[in-house]
Amino acid sequence: MSEAVRVIYIIGAGRSGSTLLDTVLASHPDVVGVGELVNLHSAGWTSNEVCACGKLGTECDFWTRVREGWQRRVPEATVEGYVALQKRIELFSGLGLVQLARMLRQRFSPTSEFHAYLRQTEALYQSIAETSGKSIIVDSSKNPIRGALLAHLRGIDLRLVHLVRDARAVVWSRKKALEADQKSGVQFPIKPRSALYSVAFWTFMNVLAALTCLFRRRQSQRMRYEDFVAEPQAQLERLGRMCGLDYSTTAQALLAGQPLKVEHPIAGNRMRMKGSVTLKPDWEWRDRLPGRDRAVCWLCAGWLLLAFGYGRKPVGKQRSASASPSWFASVWGCFTRSTANR
Ligand SMILES: [Zn+2]
Repeated sequence: MSEAVRVIYIIGAGRSGSTLLDTVLASHPDVVGVGELVNLHSAGWTSNEVCACGKLGTECDFWTRVREGWQRRVPEATVEGYVALQKRIELFSGLGLVQLARMLRQRFSPTSEFHAYLRQTEALYQSIAETSGKSIIVDSSKNPIRGALLAHLRGIDLRLVHLVRDARAVVWSRKKALEADQKSGVQFPIKPRSALYSVAFWTFMNVLAALTCLFRRRQSQRMRYEDFVAEPQAQLERLGRMCGLDYSTTAQALLAGQPLKVEHPIAGNRMRMKGSVTLKPDWEWRDRLPGRDRAVCWLCAGWLLLAFGYGRKPVGKQRSASASPSWFASVWGCFTRSTANR
């Protein structure tokens, strides 16, 4: 049996800075960053969206070779079939309660469909490792159900990074409408979302992510976006310890303002289409988010914001977020008090 592929899975809510973190982690010579892998079959190989290298998903050499390797490992699989499996097993629709119920049922009484999903997903990571020649993969899909399911794969050595960003920053980001522009990485127009919708989504995804990490406390860490951009060296050192990687060179590059190259993430934030990224903190919401929206955030998710170490006032350069939390501290910290200052 081939050696397990180490996967660093970024879990949490969207608009939290995962494209930045994916690129930073992928700058290590042993690591390949693939963006939101959960969307590869639908966005990359079905809708033929543009890869970060500038080529279409079906024309990018990297993803073409990944697909060949995937099909070689699971000849019975098809792109359409895998998308259908994803819809049934890992993707959220509505409140996501149906998928959660299905996942729990599969946990105790797995069906052939569930086994097929696991086999095809594992083959995908193996093919990426083979194609890239890298032993570690960063997947910034964020979907908590996918994160939980990866733990079922014997061929995957999973590390979870729960990336959290202040809900008010996420609400501000989701208030912006985006026009479709394929070259900029926006396949479809994105409509603005209300503060209530965004904060409900943020809460739901982060609670699921925290629970997922709770069951893998030795292989998971929580990282706040605000801590990462304020003190990348300390945060990367902490994360590197969990992943068995030395990120000191990357931290120095970030602090020096050097750009980090983006390779082939197929889906994710439009930042990936710029060819490279630099560490540039985004604090726009502090000046521009209306007071009414801030109040909605605090009323609906103040308890979780407090648990993640946020206060009514925006987080500045504070002490870093927690090191890998203990079981008790995870529960206690998640639901009752700050984890940021431990
Ligand atoms: Zn590409």
